[in-house]
Amino acid sequence: MNQGSITDICVDEEIRFKYMFLAFGACVKGYRSMRKCVSIDGTWLKGKYNGVLLVASAQDGNYHQYPLAWGVVDVESTSSWSWFLTKLLEVVPDETGLVIISDRHQGIINVVSSVYRNAHHGHCTWHLSQNLKTRCKKKGATEIFLQIAKIYKQNKFDVAYSDFRKRYPEAAQFLDERDTLDRWTRAYCPNTRYNIMTTNGVESINARLLEERKLSITSLLDSLQRLTSSWFVRYRNASIAANTNLTPTIEGILRSRFTDAQGMKFFKLGRLEFDVWSGRHSAIVDLESKRCTCRVFDMDRFTCAHAIAASWLANIDLYQLCSEYYSMMTWFMAYSETVYPVLEESEWPRNIIFSVVLPPCVEKRVGRKKQNRIPWIGEFSRR
Ligand SMILES: [Zn+2]
Repeated sequence: MNQGSITDICVDEEIRFKYMFLAFGACVKGYRSMRKCVSIDGTWLKGKYNGVLLVASAQDGNYHQYPLAWGVVDVESTSSWSWFLTKLLEVVPDETGLVIISDRHQGIINVVSSVYRNAHHGHCTWHLSQNLKTRCKKKGATEIFLQIAKIYKQNKFDVAYSDFRKRYPEAAQFLDERDTLDRWTRAYCPNTRYNIMTTNGVESINARLLEERKLSITSLLDSLQRLTSSWFVRYRNASIAANTNLTPTIEGILRSRFTDAQGMKFFKLGRLEFDVWSGRHSAIVDLESKRCTCRVFDMDRFTCAHAIAASWLANIDLYQLCSEYYSMMTWFMAYSETVYPVLEESEWPRNIIFSVVLPPCVEKRVGRKKQNRIPWIGEFSRR
């Protein structure tokens, strides 16, 4: 049994299915181990009743996607996203410091800030880059846009964006008209986006469900349970087997920064403050507040190369300077619970067995239905 699971269903006046929400108890508890940056996305279902599958996902300390909640709705709209996000509050509480990342679907934009009043709503830079392509055809504009969005430091971003504006004025105008800087830049985001600039991770979950999205809703839910359960087993085992202090991904990044730190010079300024100089650039590190003027330490929440160099001079274990979110214990705790399947019908509560919910009214989608067709003989000859 999935203790702590959250499920709900919304029907219209004719008791026809409208919206459904599902969060496995193991994931609800595991959210405590997640960094407070949650991506949301929707994808079309391909079964008899159409509909859209919504998903909210965090990312664990090893940069794996961690699905928190699922929704099945008729279409992506202000109403369906509002219902889903209101239910999501039971899994992901609204709090200062939280970031919700999504594409710029009007249904989402309308409701995130009204449901999550204390969180910051950031936009997916990949989606924005694809919109940018339609406005600016100049070579390299989208690639450079994606790079400057990831810059940590505000003055460094300002210089890069000023240069971008000169090279691609129509692209900069498009961005300025569409979004404020806090929506798409890491440097101006008032909260911490960590490494999460896009919703590509949550979309990869949807891509993984290509076949399952053709199933009936009940079979789809069974598939979601099996998929989540298999991830829990895999990453629980990985967290037990690893013999590192931090998750393998973060250890790998730290090793590379460790190499960079070896060439740096450092000088003590205060009890735990250091001036770290790396050739052309210098940075001020404060090990007590876990900050560095390069802002990588502040935003990643694990040591930048400057902080690694400073930790040598201060004789402080650098692992103590990294956030608990990346510790092996936190990674293990995220997957410590089990995601059980739904019991057979005779075991269900009586109020559920006897409740009646009619199928939704299906509205045909506009456009040609895509089919897997057999290539005609002429196509074979051209290959
Ligand atoms: Zn630094």
